[in-house]
Amino acid sequence: MTKHIPIFDGHNDTLLHLQDGVTSFYESLHDTHIDYHRAKEAGVAGGFFAAYTPSPNPGEDRYNYLNENGYKFPLPDRITKEEALGFTHKLAAQLFRIETENPDKFRVIRNVKELKDSIDTGKMAGIFHVEGAECIDSSFDSLYVLYEAGLRSIGPVWSRANDFGEGVPFCYPSTPDTGEGLTDKGFELIQHCNSLGIMIDTTHLNEKGFWDVAQATTAPLVATHSNVHAICPISRNLTDEQIQKIADSGGVIGINFAVNMLRADGKMETDVSMDEIVAHFRYITDFVGVDHVAFGSDFDGTSVPDILKDVRGSRKVLQSLSDAGFSEEDLEKIAYKNWVRVLENTWKD
Ligand SMILES: [Zn+2]
Repeated sequence: MTKHIPIFDGHNDTLLHLQDGVTSFYESLHDTHIDYHRAKEAGVAGGFFAAYTPSPNPGEDRYNYLNENGYKFPLPDRITKEEALGFTHKLAAQLFRIETENPDKFRVIRNVKELKDSIDTGKMAGIFHVEGAECIDSSFDSLYVLYEAGLRSIGPVWSRANDFGEGVPFCYPSTPDTGEGLTDKGFELIQHCNSLGIMIDTTHLNEKGFWDVAQATTAPLVATHSNVHAICPISRNLTDEQIQKIADSGGVIGINFAVNMLRADGKMETDVSMDEIVAHFRYITDFVGVDHVAFGSDFDGTSVPDILKDVRGSRKVLQSLSDAGFSEEDLEKIAYKNWVRVLENTWKD
């Protein structure tokens, strides 16, 4: 049984559902993947809460690009700093509201001690993550202000271009090598994050951008919600060389439950078996070791397998990993200890 092992998750988009400022994390939200009660039932100790600014035209015509050979969704248009900063404030405010509504149940985490205390005492831990750095101005003033507010993790890009680099589009089948790497400002962003101790998430970067981060950063390499390209050859997934590099840096990969990133055929269809999910954890463990794989669900940001349904599915995955022969020690690392280790080696305190 794995019931006693807490789960710490690398990525959710739950703040998007709370953006109206009316809906509460403590309500039972049946049409979402995560609310407080279901997360608690699943034994979730906490996770990275993403502040993601949606593209104004999220690509209603995306499926026009689908055909029997796969798909190639173009990158959405850039978004402005003003809209990104405004929206980031809105979502960050919702994260802080979760804490102020119930400070005995939830805490926004700013250092490793708070994270460990939270996991030990069962108070849910939220890490403020920015997905796509459009809200950061070229002087980096907003990075410092957001850091003071609690920002501890940032992805330089979402799957679009910005002043720091270029995201990877959703293409199947495709390598992640789809465009240009970091800009000069992108390299500066890495330096500022290193000096502040903000975790840099390589998720959504194209391959050149990934290798630029790998060369520039002094912290362990992290992909909070990406899977194995050798299993599912979508552009969003990680090649063996990338997985090896993340492992060599002492970093971690959070496994994403997006169906089109799990399935070998890359289809946006939700009848995915538990074996297909376990395969991604198994592949990384066999290839580079159990220290480099973790949860990165993408709940509330994507379509997940029917068998998972919502956040409670994470517990089913952990149990299936146990049934598949992962030891208790391995399960603890995958469930939360790998994330704690990486943050210990990344944050300043
Ligand atoms: Zn994402």
